[in-house]
Amino acid sequence: MATSAVIDHTQRDPWQVALEQFDIAADRLHLDPNMRGILRECQRELTVHFPVRMQDGVVKVFTGYRVQHNISRGPGKGGIRYHPSVTLNEVKALAMWMTWKCAVVGIPYGGAKGGVVCDPKHMTAQQLETLTRRYTTEISLLIGPDRDIPAPDVGTNAQTMAWVMDTYSMHHGSTVPAVVTGKPVSIGGSEGRNEATARGAVYTIIEASKAIGLDLEGARVVVQGYGNAGMYSAKLIAELGAKVIAVSDTSGGITNPNGLDPQKIEAFKRETGRVQGLPGAERISNTDLLELDCEILIPAAIENQIGSQNATEIKAKIVAEAANGPTSPEADRILYDRGVMVIPDILCNAGGVTVSYFEWVQDLQNLFWREATINARLKEVMVKSFNDVLDLSHKHKVDMRTAAYMLAVSRVADATLTRGIYP
Ligand code: NAD
Repeated sequence: MATSAVIDHTQRDPWQVALEQFDIAADRLHLDPNMRGILRECQRELTVHFPVRMQDGVVKVFTGYRVQHNISRGPGKGGIRYHPSVTLNEVKALAMWMTWKCAVVGIPYGGAKGGVVCDPKHMTAQQLETLTRRYTTEISLLIGPDRDIPAPDVGTNAQTMAWVMDTYSMHHGSTVPAVVTGKPVSIGGSEGRNEATARGAVYTIIEASKAIGLDLEGARVVVQGYGNAGMYSAKLIAELGAKVIAVSDTSGGITNPNGLDPQKIEAFKRETGRVQGLPGAERISNTDLLELDCEILIPAAIENQIGSQNATEIKAKIVAEAANGPTSPEADRILYDRGVMVIPDILCNAGGVTVSYFEWVQDLQNLFWREATINARLKEVMVKSFNDVLDLSHKHKVDMRTAAYMLAVSRVADATLTRGIYP
């Protein structure tokens, strides 16, 4: 099979996709046109250009964003992405998706997102720290523990959040742990946050398997993306007896029909920086990987992976969107008609923001919970939210994404209406 890792990241503008998904739910809800007008825009969009001293006197100017879509249900919440292809429209879409995500699982936040156009894979730790501290300073106009609380996303991690927290705290004059989530446990992070997105996704996969009568024992699983969401998804689903037969990252994919050991992949990736080359596994392109024969497909990389060009070729019975925005609206329709259950991103990967919420609550109270408590509370939220959405999808005879949107949009519209229009 081909070994190309190239994925067309430019197929659809994520913001247009987000609007289309919203419109489908708004039509179904017969949403008032005034409310539709409010919810179709982001409330605040900040663009920043800032210099970073790289090395040998070279100064590079970076562009970053922080967007708040809707903050009627609580402070803004959403990750920070470091990736070369970040655009304002991508950040806007991700912020809107955060609004719906927080609403669908019933946590008291609005939606926000941030990003910096950069390639963290080709930057030193020192450069990343300097970039993060300056970007934090630039967006400190918007962020704060009761205003907008960032978290990790593609290309950022717990260390990045530690730098954001420290920079904000330096400006504030005292330590403010609740300004970010996804921090290391040593500075106010939560137990279980690293695995939370994947753990939440796996709880929804368990419920989806029950709904369609699929036995997880021996079920074949394909995971696209082997970062935070993908790697922990692979590990946790394998613990349940499922067989991970293929995984990938930007370097391309690997497959073995007899199953891959997620721990060995992790060790290999830590050593070499990639999954390809793992002994005992065949190479496969990211494109072919999506079309492999399997029961469960977990896109856990970036947007625009399943479109009208490949939706007819997807063999999985369940597509669990650990990533944000991997499936286009056209592909949604094709998959629904073919009987594939898509667990939509705003539900499937909401475990991350749910445990972020637990982290924020713990920081504000200075009272920390045990991991078992966190996982149990996460499970309760994910199982209930999944079944609320499933019931709604049956009631209205719509796919799971439309049902999740209907639930989320009605909650956000209700909060926005109840608060009224200022002034
Ligand atoms: P990450 O940076 O830890 O991992 C991303 C992985 O995807 C890496 O293995 C990278 O090599 C791979 N990747 C990137 N571009 C790719 C491409 N074009 N083809 C194939 N693989 C590619 O990021 P993450 O935090 O795991 O986020 C992954 C997805 O999950 C994103 O869509 C993100 O928005 C979503 N998400 C993450 C969290 C979280 O808590 N981390 C929460 C909710 C949603």
